[in-house]
Amino acid sequence: MTFIKNIVGKFTGSESKNGWPGLIEAYKKWLPVTSQTPIITLKEGATPLIELLSISKSIGKGVKIYAKYDGLNPTGSFKDRGMTMAISKAKEDGCKAVICASTGNTSASAAAYARRGDMRAFVLIPDGYVAQGKLAQALVYGAEIIAIKGNFDKALELVQKMSKEFPLTLVNSVNPYRLQGQKTAAFEIIDELGNAPDWLCIPMGNAGNISAYWLGFKEYFEAKKSTKLPKLMGYQAKGSAPLVYNQIIDEPKTIATAIRIGNPVNKEKAYKAKAESNGTFDYVTDDEIISAYKRLGKEEGIFCEPASAASVAGLLKYSNNIPENSTIVCVLTGNGLKDPDCAIKNNDASFYTGINPDMKEISKILGL
Ligand SMILES: *Cc1c(COP(=O)(O)O)cnc(C)c1O
Repeated sequence: MTFIKNIVGKFTGSESKNGWPGLIEAYKKWLPVTSQTPIITLKEGATPLIELLSISKSIGKGVKIYAKYDGLNPTGSFKDRGMTMAISKAKEDGCKAVICASTGNTSASAAAYARRGDMRAFVLIPDGYVAQGKLAQALVYGAEIIAIKGNFDKALELVQKMSKEFPLTLVNSVNPYRLQGQKTAAFEIIDELGNAPDWLCIPMGNAGNISAYWLGFKEYFEAKKSTKLPKLMGYQAKGSAPLVYNQIIDEPKTIATAIRIGNPVNKEKAYKAKAESNGTFDYVTDDEIISAYKRLGKEEGIFCEPASAASVAGLLKYSNNIPENSTIVCVLTGNGLKDPDCAIKNNDASFYTGINPDMKEISKILGL
């Protein structure tokens, strides 16, 4: 693995991931930090790029498809990349409390990093629309949680106002440090592949992540670390696709709660990234999302959350358009354990219950 040599090999400390120091330390010359910045880290980043063998094979044409599995960050989503930056900068500024609106992962990540930096974490979530695992995390990490009768967009509107009214640092992706931290995922991909992929497939909610990837790909390209820029393929859920229809969706609906957002704050940045990369934005249905989610689990051994599977669902929708011999990266934004309800309701597993502890009976059921 050249990645291990190029990146991790530089850090000979005895810390986790064979010396990986966390993404701020690893990429500090690319980030707005100084020696004065207190680095608040849980050793996020350095997530695996995993070749999707079964899906690549089914598409054929010499195409290589990888998953950037950002669900393996410390709190289980890519939000940690942005949060280590946002919280470190908040700490540097003397901030005592942070606030965010969240569909779940931002709150889990904000709570973990804020508490680690000895700050209070206030989170507003849409009542009833946050996956169980994410709620559990925010509770355990010691967030102060307000569940509002309203959706994510309403929650974001409120926290934006509150951060102006009170001494609170807003850590949603309108916070520019979030995108700075998140752009490191693009660096990692290029460091490992030796070049940018031809396509980057990614789910879009507030569209901060796609904007951050573009920032990262452009910076590395300008520094001649890659010879090309990827085409950005951004996917939303059909019932929650403001960037596809170019209009605000008042009541976004989708099983993929992490991207259930009707009025993305990073809309302008995302459209610019799409235009500059000659990319495509489209929707995928919840059925397509679940089908990709199941395939990732049972064919590739990768358990991601439904929102993350939108990237692979989108790729499959565009499989006829994939150029021969291309390299594609699908971003898997969050860990499947975040949303156990979805997993239990949506799988093709054989699950026999109430069986006697009897080998004959069991072998009969298994057809042995
Ligand atoms: C936040 C999130 C997204 C959406 O990212 P944006 O930056 O809001 O577009 C997608 N998937 C998961 C799992 C998330 O937590």
